[in-house]
Amino acid sequence: MAINDTDTSDSSNIDVDTEANAPEPLNNPQPLLTSLEDNKEVNSITETEKSVITIEPEEEEAGAQPQPAPNVDLSEVAPIPQPIPTTEDNSASFDTDAVTTSVEGTETTAPTSIQSEPVVTQQPKPEPPVTTTAEITYDQFVILGAEVLPGTSTRLAWSPNVAITGLALPTPVLVINGAQDGPTLCLSAAVHGDELNGIEIVRRVMYNIDPSRLHGKVIGVPIVNLQGFQRGSRYLPDRRDLNRFFPGDKNGSLASRIAASFFTEVISHCDMLVDLHTGSAGRTNMPQIRADMSNEAVRMLTEGFDKMVVVHSPGNPGMLRSAANAVGITSVTMEVGESLRVQEDSIKAGVTGVYSLMEKQGMFARRFVWGSPSPVYYKSYWLRTETGGILFSRADLGDTVYAGQVLGHVTDPITNETTQIIAPVKGRIIGMAVNQVVMPGFAAYHIGEIATEDTIVDPETTIDSPMHLGESNNNSAIDTEENFIINN
Ligand SMILES: [Zn+2]
Repeated sequence: MAINDTDTSDSSNIDVDTEANAPEPLNNPQPLLTSLEDNKEVNSITETEKSVITIEPEEEEAGAQPQPAPNVDLSEVAPIPQPIPTTEDNSASFDTDAVTTSVEGTETTAPTSIQSEPVVTQQPKPEPPVTTTAEITYDQFVILGAEVLPGTSTRLAWSPNVAITGLALPTPVLVINGAQDGPTLCLSAAVHGDELNGIEIVRRVMYNIDPSRLHGKVIGVPIVNLQGFQRGSRYLPDRRDLNRFFPGDKNGSLASRIAASFFTEVISHCDMLVDLHTGSAGRTNMPQIRADMSNEAVRMLTEGFDKMVVVHSPGNPGMLRSAANAVGITSVTMEVGESLRVQEDSIKAGVTGVYSLMEKQGMFARRFVWGSPSPVYYKSYWLRTETGGILFSRADLGDTVYAGQVLGHVTDPITNETTQIIAPVKGRIIGMAVNQVVMPGFAAYHIGEIATEDTIVDPETTIDSPMHLGESNNNSAIDTEENFIINN
């Protein structure tokens, strides 16, 4: 059964191969937020960006004022971003000339008389930037060495502080500071470099937000693991999984240093975080939120994702969302689709989920007709294959299945032996392997079971097919490489 290409009828299902369908980011059927059509001054924007990234070492002095970032239309084609270097105390200096930006055809000169204390973003222990001044009438928002003025959007760059130049490629950080006060939402994607759907979700969300109508701030990082992305790999160049090293250690391993830099310079600014992922190792996930439902703030956050299903998952140590939650940044993982693919239905579901969250958080005016909330899967299981061979599925992603139902089979191409995979419980297939060669024990189906909240124990355990129950039904969290991966 060609799972890859034949999905599906359920509207919440995914996996439509859309590589032939070019994404149309601005073709939103219900654009609540007007795109920044008026701000087309590409040349002046480019000049402005150049002026911001100009560093004049002779002017270095402690406590230099962050330069206001240029107001740019994020949907415009942009040059490769360059980070603003930071010193140990992050008091980098900048060209102190006033930055002139062109906003909707009007020349405006950025303020240069704002006084503030040096912004600290290089602390090992993440803290939001602190400014104290009586002279500014708005909350100064400084990130990555630049101030983003209210009602503007800009494109900054983050580069991990690693010594080898080739590993220090800057990755864009898109920032929108709304004209009105509100919370700060962060969207991170491609912490695993081969997970592409989230990259496009961040792009579409960010490029369709009008700063003048936004309450709060949105920080979008489309590609956190740029090194992995360039190689089509989940991992960092040293084969480490970046999503096991947060919040990181600036004196630790390469992965730990990269994690620390990202956590401190970007994530520490967030009130809320949605970390975007896909299935891994040939598995695909129905669009879903993974969240630690024992955390009340997280549980409330999950109510904002409209019809997207929620799967209870406390998370592993070192995961970005775990580390963020540990410091009070309310965080969830959004899983959409499959790695190494760009899947239009998954992307649309993700964009809708983020916009609905923003509305729920009061970040912009009503947009949605809310559907009936999907159930929370407080219990979920990975059903593993008992034999090796070629996996053929009968069931589809999103299917509701019943105990005893045949979900698929594994055929040994050498002996021609076929082994059925049978659902041990009633539930919904929230993730599954695509048809492929599997080894015995491969986690093939992720089944969410409707359960009450008081049963949230031992989530994402694995269970054997019923025919093998009683032999080795080890449901404890096995710390294998694969278990680590499937828990994302
Ligand atoms: Zn991932």
